[in-house]
Amino acid sequence: MSENEKDKKETKQHNSGVTVDSSKKTDEYEKICYMCRRPESKAGKMVEMPGDISVCTDCMQKTFDSIQGTTGMQYADLMKLSNLNFMNFSDLHGEIPQRQKLKKKKPKEEKKVNSVFNIQKMPAPHKIKEKLDDYVVGQEHAKKVISVAVYNHYKRIAAMEEKEKQSPDVEIEKSNMLMIGPTGSGKTYLVRTLAKLLDVPLAITDATSLTEAGYIGDDIESVVSKLLAAAENDVEKAERGIIFIDEIDKIAKKKNARSRDVSGESVQQGMLKLLEGADIEVPVGANSKNAMVPLATVNTSNILFICGGAFPDLEDIIKERLNKHSTMGFSGELKDKYDKEKNLMAKVTVEDLRNFGMIPEFLGRLPIIFSLEELSKEMLIRVLKEPKNAILKQYERLLAMDEVQLVFEEEALEAIAQKALEKDTGARALRAIIEEFMLDIMYEIPKDDNIGKVTVTKAYIENTGGPLIEMRGNGQLALP
Ligand code: ADP
Repeated sequence: MSENEKDKKETKQHNSGVTVDSSKKTDEYEKICYMCRRPESKAGKMVEMPGDISVCTDCMQKTFDSIQGTTGMQYADLMKLSNLNFMNFSDLHGEIPQRQKLKKKKPKEEKKVNSVFNIQKMPAPHKIKEKLDDYVVGQEHAKKVISVAVYNHYKRIAAMEEKEKQSPDVEIEKSNMLMIGPTGSGKTYLVRTLAKLLDVPLAITDATSLTEAGYIGDDIESVVSKLLAAAENDVEKAERGIIFIDEIDKIAKKKNARSRDVSGESVQQGMLKLLEGADIEVPVGANSKNAMVPLATVNTSNILFICGGAFPDLEDIIKERLNKHSTMGFSGELKDKYDKEKNLMAKVTVEDLRNFGMIPEFLGRLPIIFSLEELSKEMLIRVLKEPKNAILKQYERLLAMDEVQLVFEEEALEAIAQKALEKDTGARALRAIIEEFMLDIMYEIPKDDNIGKVTVTKAYIENTGGPLIEMRGNGQLALP
């Protein structure tokens, strides 16, 4: 670098550390036409107007055309008017909110260097599972399946990028997943953890809120819009994200439906092209398409779709199928052989899901189907204390800030797990139960600086006694 250049660079940094930064930030976003709301990538070059407003040449032309139509004035005449002042639109409406701006696509070269999903960088399935183990208790099979699927999914993306350079060979199928498991077994948690570990944007939607376009409810495509928002309007980032659609069992085909099934079968139909991969026009920074919202095109081919649901009556369907098989042959097995079988869900087949009301085309686009177990009492106790961000660890840490040691008796944990089991909402019940009795402790303890240790006892959980309080000088007392 010559002396001159160095000088220039230094003065730039000197003069405006902040302004340089902010201009860099706005540079990452595309300009949007103030009139037709199309981004620069679609509408072409923008004309800059006072007040940080951009207008595309089409709209500019239309404006001039209409001026010409009403006044007979030519474009050149207009330009000749020396004291012409354009109206400052921003005075009328304020600035265009940042959330409605689109992030520019990065040039191809740069993308390759920064790509997180480089095969070299993508951790092997066992590494992914190891990381999941830190957070998710049990569910060994589910964690294994999901690790392999995610690994393959991002390997597929890398292979497709490679293919752009070489001639196409074997096409690898997309690894969309269907996850079956009771409420509170960790379906959402598993997906959330995965997205966090992989550092990809994640959108979570309830299938119950979706309806066929034009009916009350969210359009099916709104899920992609959510993902774009999660990716900070960066289309490229969104195109490698994960979409989790919960309660997918609620969009099963309604039996004996007389009217049009707008929130069931139609939603399944509507999701087909999303699952497979299509260019979807989504509104930026808003839930619905309208004239004032810019649109972005997101391709869903590389988006990983994970559907989850509890499928409450599926066990009966599986049981029926299994029973039918065993009574058909000469094996002489008892008809109720499977009645007491635990974890029947693990035996699920595509045929069972079809009988449940999922349409074959939909199932065909979710090639990986697996189930999660219902959490047992032992697993619930582990959920309380083992994960990296376990709820007990969080309370221990909070009290440690007040230099108070918090201890849970093993029996107390069992009592909490027992209470949670009774609520029948899996691990979801745990937090509510703990919060209820921790409230008094968190309220009372900071009152007295002399308290050094609190032990949560079984009696306290069962409302027959209080926690054990120990003073710093080793004296003991029990809270009433
Ligand atoms: P659902 O299966 O209904 O989607 P969630 O994933 O929402 O259940 O689970 C609710 C909460 O329970 C999670 O936020 C998480 O803290 C906890 N949880 C559930 N299952 C597990 C698990 N296997 N390991 C650790 N925590 C879990």
